[in-house]
Amino acid sequence: MEYNLVLKTWFKPQTLKKALALLHKKQAHHFLFFRHAAALVCEDDITAMVNIVTGTGKHKFVFRDGWCSQCVAGKTGQHCHHVAALAMLCLCEYEKKNRLQPVTMAFADSHWQKIGHYLSERLKPGQTTITWHENADHMRLSVLQESGLSLQVRLHSEAAAELQGLGITDKNKPPAKQKDILVPLAQELAQKTATENERALLQRGSTSKQMHNDQSCWMWLARFLFLHLPAEDISLSLHDSGRFMLRPSGQTELFELLLARHHSWELLRQLDPESYGFCLLPPAQQFNRVQFNDDGNTIVVENRCRLSDGTRHNLATLEKQRYGSRYFLNNSFFTLAPVPPEERIDEEEKKVLSLFSLPALTEKKNHRFYGLLQCDPRFSQTQQTGSAG
Ligand SMILES: [Zn+2]
Repeated sequence: MEYNLVLKTWFKPQTLKKALALLHKKQAHHFLFFRHAAALVCEDDITAMVNIVTGTGKHKFVFRDGWCSQCVAGKTGQHCHHVAALAMLCLCEYEKKNRLQPVTMAFADSHWQKIGHYLSERLKPGQTTITWHENADHMRLSVLQESGLSLQVRLHSEAAAELQGLGITDKNKPPAKQKDILVPLAQELAQKTATENERALLQRGSTSKQMHNDQSCWMWLARFLFLHLPAEDISLSLHDSGRFMLRPSGQTELFELLLARHHSWELLRQLDPESYGFCLLPPAQQFNRVQFNDDGNTIVVENRCRLSDGTRHNLATLEKQRYGSRYFLNNSFFTLAPVPPEERIDEEEKKVLSLFSLPALTEKKNHRFYGLLQCDPRFSQTQQTGSAG
C-alpha cells in the first residue's frame, strides 16, 4: 500500500495495479541497479530503465527518464507498468525503519557497497580461484586467494547464473547459459550513469578507477547481497584462524567472508568496528629500549610501544597481532604514533651498533637516546672504554 503512496506522483493507480500483478505473476526476471539507475527484464525480453535522482522539497528522490523497450510514454509523460514494476523493485525499506528509500541511494551508503569495493580492489584476476559448486537445490560460490581471503556464498541457481553472466566465472566450467540481454543491459546502465569525464575516457577506450570498480563482478555480487541480506544482520568476529570474519548472524551458511589478514584494516575501518563491539584506542607511543645482551658485549635495541593504558609491548612480539596498519589486542584496535625523525634508529644502524660506535651514534642521534644509555650503570664504565678506543 505504501508503495502506491510513494509512487503515485509518477504512475497512475491502474498502472501500479498492473505493475503489482506483473511482479506477482513472476514476470520480472532480472532486476539490476547501478549507481543512480536501474533496469528490469520482463517476460518476452521487454526491458525497462529508470533514473533515480535526489529530489527537492517534499520529494527526497525523483524517478526520471523512465524508458520501456515496448511501450511509449503517455501524452502526459506517464509511464507503463513495466517502468512502474521497476520503480517498485527500486524501493526498499530503509534500515528497517518502515520508510521506503531507493536501493540506489541506500546501497551507496551501505556496508555492502564497502564490502563490494574491497572485494573489487583485492580480488584481482589471476590471483583468485573462483569455483562454483553445484548442489541439489542450490549453488555455492567459493572464492579463494593465497592472501588468506576466502569468500563463500550460497545462492539459488538463477541468481548464480545471473552472477556468472556478470563475470563471476569458474575457469574450469562453462558459465550457465545466459539470456543475451543481461550483459548489454549492465553495460548500458554503466554508460547511462557515466560522468562527463568518464564518457570522454570511454571514448578513448579507457575507464575511470571508480567505474572500473563499479563494473566489477564483485560489486555486482555486493548489490545482489544487499538486496537479500540486510547489512545490519551481518556480524563481524575474529575467526579461529586469526582472521576477521563477516557472516549473517543467523543463517550462517548463506555468506562468509574471511579477510586477508594484512588487508583487514582496509575494510574494517570503513565498517565502524565500534558498532560491532570493538574498541579503538589512541595511537601507541613508540620508544626504543636499549640494553646489553646476556654476554654483556652487545647492545640490543628493542622497538617497543606504550598503549594509552600504560602497558608496554615489544613490537616484534606484537607482529602476531597486526592486521595491516592496525594492531588488535584485547578486543581493541590501535596504530602506532609516528616517531619523530631525530628519534629513529633504522635497521642499518642497529646492525652496526656496537660499544665502539656508540659515541659517534649518540652525537648524531638525539639526547634522549644518549640519556637512556647513561642510565645503565654498566654503560658509564664501558663508554669510557669505547671513547678511549
Ligand atoms: Zn512497457
